[in-house]
Amino acid sequence: MGADVSARPRGIAILGSTGSIGTTALRVLERQGSRFRVAALTAFNNAGLLEQQVAQFQPGFVGIVANGSEPHAGWHVGPQCLVDAVQRDDVDIVLNAVVGAVGLEATLAALARGKRVALANKETLVMAGALVTAACASGGGELIPVDSEHSAILQCITGRQGVDVRRVIITASGGPFREWTPERLADATLEDALRHPTWQMGRKITVDSATLANKALEVIEAHFLFGIPYDQIEVVVHPQSIVHSLVEFVDGSVLAQLGVPSMELPVLYALTHPDRVPDSGVQPFDPVAHSPLTFEKIRSEQFPAFALGVAAGRRGGAAPAVFNAANEAAVSLFLDGRIRFQNIGSLIASALDAFGDLPGDSREAILAADSAARRFVQERFAC
Ligand code: MG
Repeated sequence: MGADVSARPRGIAILGSTGSIGTTALRVLERQGSRFRVAALTAFNNAGLLEQQVAQFQPGFVGIVANGSEPHAGWHVGPQCLVDAVQRDDVDIVLNAVVGAVGLEATLAALARGKRVALANKETLVMAGALVTAACASGGGELIPVDSEHSAILQCITGRQGVDVRRVIITASGGPFREWTPERLADATLEDALRHPTWQMGRKITVDSATLANKALEVIEAHFLFGIPYDQIEVVVHPQSIVHSLVEFVDGSVLAQLGVPSMELPVLYALTHPDRVPDSGVQPFDPVAHSPLTFEKIRSEQFPAFALGVAAGRRGGAAPAVFNAANEAAVSLFLDGRIRFQNIGSLIASALDAFGDLPGDSREAILAADSAARRFVQERFAC
């Protein structure tokens, strides 16, 4: 593998290059230019930043999902650009860092062509886990997590047999409301929710971290990525975000992966796995400076989105897709200042009551459940 990595720079497509993960990835690639080459960049609507990235990295393909008024010669416009980018022959690895369900088609297309998908877009795996893992198996592709917790799990189990694992323990920072009382939580504002204690991230995932919906998404993500039954996946609150997750093996030994809370290493590792390469941008770890490391039970009664999401995962069918879609729609209303923080959980619960039993056995069924749940949340709010 080591020889293969150094043989020629591998072509990378970054979907969502102007977002938090995308810009982190480009910083990594700036330092790793001998190993990787930027083959394609796509952005949602930030044409200004995309222009600068294109000037610096000179990719062969440029796409923008929602183009503004100013046309750019040679840019591919519209959601189809995501799929077109990943199908190119000069793309070996797709970093899927778009936000939300819209990333699904590109993940499926890349896996069908036998490519590595470095997945930061956990929503696609949550809504369509069975389809994505089937596309991975039949197309000969690889699904490598970028999410820090799942990167930690992968790093702990790489080189071992799956049957050796007894339990995975996913860590959660607890978000900005970890110590808030229910009374105070009832008045939580958007500003409060966006003030994450340990991680700098995009707005949608930051709100998901405040509701703990993000941790439910990550439990479902772990289930599909590693084929681990839900009974063997636990979550523990770890406010320092230094231990990114733990894996317990059948002999009782527990391995963990530690590091400062930064996405540079998970992004780099998703590109180089199973190899490790030096990188000057990854911050050194100092056990004394990062002490103490503490762990707490998750307060699931305060954060209904967490339990609802895990239950949706266990329920299967279209339930995870309904959970994900209702959450996305509710978070978008919250980000627009149209609902209160507490409404996010109740909207998800109502959507799961209405659509949680829908089938999820095909792409069409999942997309139908996804749009039914979105419409439901939007309409309930409109009344
Ligand atoms: Mg995470």
